[in-house]
Amino acid sequence: QQTVPMLEVRGLSTGYGNIPVLHDVSFEVPQGKVTAVIGANGAGKTTLLSTIAGLIPATSGQLMLDGTDISRTPAASRTAAGLALVPEGGRLFPFMTVRENLELGAYSLGRDAGMRQRIAEICEIFPVLAERQSQMAGHLSGGERQMCAVARAMMSRPRLLMLDEPSVGLSPLMTERLLSTISDLAASEALTVVIVEQRVTEVLAMAELAHMLDHGRIMKSGTAGEFRTDRMIQETYMGR
Ligand code: ATP
Repeated sequence: QQTVPMLEVRGLSTGYGNIPVLHDVSFEVPQGKVTAVIGANGAGKTTLLSTIAGLIPATSGQLMLDGTDISRTPAASRTAAGLALVPEGGRLFPFMTVRENLELGAYSLGRDAGMRQRIAEICEIFPVLAERQSQMAGHLSGGERQMCAVARAMMSRPRLLMLDEPSVGLSPLMTERLLSTISDLAASEALTVVIVEQRVTEVLAMAELAHMLDHGRIMKSGTAGEFRTDRMIQETYMGR
């Protein structure tokens, strides 16, 4: 019966120096659902996720997490409040092992039983990582690397997981596997997901809600079903 959205973005504007990028962006992310954000290159999708994560300051507007204003909360405190970001490319530490990368995702759990238990849980969700725990992250395949980046973000038991183009560089099959793992996670860990993707057909198949960003503005919002059948979306993003 939750009426407060997990995340509410209200009139968010930001940019780099005096170059504006996002203009008055508003949307809600309901709890427990997968929300897709689509848009052309340079539309401002990465900037949007970075601003929500607290890596870039907003020039105006508000960010509400569970009804609490986090607009001025530092990035680390947003993580502690349940927000996690998987940046584009994953940004793993290639010369550290898979296990060490996972540990970094939840250093706040301490190097004790809590950490061990969470790694065991994560390895059940991502069996491929269980086998490769002692390997260097830089030796993983592209798909495994993305799995590891998602797993690392999941270490802190986030309630809101944001993913920036997780399918970059992956084959269609690996993309399908990764997105289906994310769907499973959303269902089993009561997770709310915001996913930015260029693979629009694939992401609209897993998402419940969608927003289209164009030149830093939200141009369309709706259910994923509405997006899938929209002529303009099909022609612009789905190659039809
Ligand atoms: P892509 O799909 O290519 O990653 P995007 O939708 O994620 O695109 P952003 O990366 O958010 O778009 O970029 C939005 C705009 O902000 C672009 O015009 C980009 O050139 C500009 N921009 C991004 N990062 C910076 C930066 N660090 N300094 C200055 N301008 C930037």
